[in-house]
Amino acid sequence: MTPPAPRPHLNAHLAEFGTTIFAEMSALAVRTGAINLGQGFPDTDGPEEVREAAVRALRDGRGNQYPPGPGVPELRLAIAAHQRTRYGLTYDPDREVLVTAGATEAIAASLLALVAPGDEVVALEPYYDSYAASIAMAGGRRVPVTLRPDPAGGPDSRGFRLDLDELRDAVTDRTRLILLNTPHNPTGTVLTRAELTAIAELAVERDLLVVTDEVYEHLVFDGEHIPIASLPGMRERTVTISSAGKTLSFTGWKVGWITATPELVTAVRTAKQFLTYVSSGPFQYAIAEGLTLPESYFAGLREELRAKRDLLAAGLADAGFTVHRPAGTYFITTDITPLGAADGIDFCLALPERCGVVAIPTSVFYDDKEAGRSLVRFAFCKRTEVLEEAVQRLKSW
Ligand SMILES: *Cc1c(COP(=O)(O)O)cnc(C)c1O
Repeated sequence: MTPPAPRPHLNAHLAEFGTTIFAEMSALAVRTGAINLGQGFPDTDGPEEVREAAVRALRDGRGNQYPPGPGVPELRLAIAAHQRTRYGLTYDPDREVLVTAGATEAIAASLLALVAPGDEVVALEPYYDSYAASIAMAGGRRVPVTLRPDPAGGPDSRGFRLDLDELRDAVTDRTRLILLNTPHNPTGTVLTRAELTAIAELAVERDLLVVTDEVYEHLVFDGEHIPIASLPGMRERTVTISSAGKTLSFTGWKVGWITATPELVTAVRTAKQFLTYVSSGPFQYAIAEGLTLPESYFAGLREELRAKRDLLAAGLADAGFTVHRPAGTYFITTDITPLGAADGIDFCLALPERCGVVAIPTSVFYDDKEAGRSLVRFAFCKRTEVLEEAVQRLKSW
């Protein structure tokens, strides 16, 4: 009798999340000395005064021991003030704000708290890579709704748009929540008021919760960021997630948060307390100061990244890519078909050797691999001279 095959260490419901493309591509970047436009982190740190605020907190012994479970009061106040002054959304800092270990933990804790095994979660595809894994860890079933690119591309492209009929059709009796992301990574789509209103009406009609990832809220170049929680009937059914990583260019500090009703915050906190309990003590005080920087900081960051978007978009178009101009975020999605290439994975594996640049094949963010096969994502949150050099190199493909 043959002995049974040993059970794999990794549980079956996580098997598809083996190794991420980021590890593979970053290793390639190191081996070939290529410019890494793969992973989305800035290559310069955030404001000096915010860094100094973290040093002061550390020296003064603020946050060196477990901070309070919901987050330090200074930061919760700053988050509530941020939502009120920018969006007219009022949240009680004591009962309706929860600080998390980055947006990543906020997403995981929200799904673990709100999704029961077998529940369906409707998410926009292509999606940020932690969504699929977090839905799986909660035992949920992901139901993707694919954003479709304007086939023309170019400077007048409408980018990737949501088909509202497809979204409506994706909702079933088993749907528990819609997982939104605007501005959207990787496509750079910023959902319009009309689109968000239609999503809100659907959520109210079908009595769904909405979990919305708004970490790029300050990086909108065309149009405006509208939190779906600000639309009629939505405040009571929405968990809004954001983070200091992208807004203040300190992605290593892992300070994120949710704002929601007391009932939703309590639910998410129940899961969150057994993931990390608390995190980032001294950094929480620093981010509280960062969120209250003058408007010129936020406008300056936006303008700087807008210029980088324009530089990289023009360079990629010159190099022959179809460019789907993003309205927000750190990323440009391109189509490689005009370069005589068809498969983004093959292309990205060859790109470091051939041109000395690393990019990410967008198909890894899709369930419908065919929809993303010829798409490649480039990050532009890098120094201007790095982007200029990358553009020169890409012209040699
Ligand atoms: C970077 C990113 C996150 C993760 O944020 P952290 O605060 O670093 O955990 C979440 N969602 C999207 C869409 C992102 O791009």
